[in-house]
Amino acid sequence: MSSGMTVEQARELLLQNVKVMDVEQVDLLDALGRVLAQDMESDIDVAPFDNSAMDGFAVRAADLSGASEAHPVRVKVIEHIAAGDAPEITVGPGEASRIMTGAPMPAGADAVVMVEYSSVIEGDGATGSLVALSREVTAGENVRLQGEEVRAGDVVVAAGDVLGPAGIGLLASTGHGRVPVFRRPRVAVLSTGSELVEVDQVPGPGKIRNSNSYSVSAQVIAAGGVPVRMEVVRDDMQATREAFTRAVENSDFIVTTGGVSVGDFDYVKPVLKELGELMYCKVTMRPGNPQTMGVINGVPFFGLPGNPTSTYVGFEMFVRPAIRHMTGHTKLDRPVVSARLTHDVRKKPDRRYFMRGIVSRGQDGLEVLLAGSQSSALLTAAHRGNCFVVLPEGEREFAAGQIVNCMRLDMDEGIEL
Ligand code: AMP
Ligand code: MG
Repeated sequence: MSSGMTVEQARELLLQNVKVMDVEQVDLLDALGRVLAQDMESDIDVAPFDNSAMDGFAVRAADLSGASEAHPVRVKVIEHIAAGDAPEITVGPGEASRIMTGAPMPAGADAVVMVEYSSVIEGDGATGSLVALSREVTAGENVRLQGEEVRAGDVVVAAGDVLGPAGIGLLASTGHGRVPVFRRPRVAVLSTGSELVEVDQVPGPGKIRNSNSYSVSAQVIAAGGVPVRMEVVRDDMQATREAFTRAVENSDFIVTTGGVSVGDFDYVKPVLKELGELMYCKVTMRPGNPQTMGVINGVPFFGLPGNPTSTYVGFEMFVRPAIRHMTGHTKLDRPVVSARLTHDVRKKPDRRYFMRGIVSRGQDGLEVLLAGSQSSALLTAAHRGNCFVVLPEGEREFAAGQIVNCMRLDMDEGIEL
């Protein structure tokens, strides 16, 4: 077995060292996708008043007893109530008010007959007309009650709930223009490597573009954090020291890429040890064995490997759950599905593999194929794929047709399948 912690141990240790962020008040729309930090009460009843669920006629249900196509009941229209109006006239026996969806129910009426079951006998259908109604109604039919959604003073959205568009709508209807949510952590993104140049530069001899800074920053955003992209850190002890010190001052969480192997110029681990505490530096997984975790001055630190796909997988397995925990989420696991391998796969038995795959619905249920070359230096399979095919430690060969676990990257944590 190769040295290192299991994925579970490494993840647990990281989660123990990241704290849930403090609470901030944000504009309602900025709360989308975030976790509500306090129970929110309604200031009013919603709906605020009994109102019509249909366009039609507000009536006394008893008046329409026995009404049918063959035997319609005639009523006199006494008022026309639009949404936004306040009705003024009480509906008496043999009377009805023309009413629109969302308009308040007039006193005296207890049901609404849909306009589809009406015909005008006399007049233009407005106030003063005579109308025939061809349908019985029960009391309360097509009436939406005051307080049906929530009563004044009751909790409308609870602490810990993740705010989707419906939650945002509930908070709007109950008067909350600003809401308390857990602050997004500022995540310093540091790329180490003397070979790195910026995206807008054409790399000279021996150089490559700094792609990790962008992929990791995008992963930070997707996980609910705020990336703070810092300058490239040259492979130099003093430069690394200075960069880490600056990152500690400017962030709630530090993520680095590269410089964690056993190369002659890998300074992440020594500097982490010098400035803070190194908790682990190897996880029995592939890609990405050298995952490095620590704390500097209370700020959690995660050193991802440099190969773009090792970086990508390490972030997904460790940093993303940590950021979700920091932002108040309690669901930290992506959904896992079983799928049939479409072809043979070989691996070394020493580590758990996270292969980039494409899972889709086949004739016999879900099937999965590898999404291209699994080299940790190449990102295309991660781009094309929608899952990690998780192949356990200890195993060597997987035959076509075998059922394997696939971690769905295209589905949010907490989805029950
Ligand atoms: P390292 O872990 O620093 O030894 O880097 C491993 C491999 O990943 C090397 O081939 C690096 O050139 C490459 N690499 C490191 N950092 C980056 C980066 N920010 N963007 C793209 N490739 C990188
Ligand atoms: Mg390097």
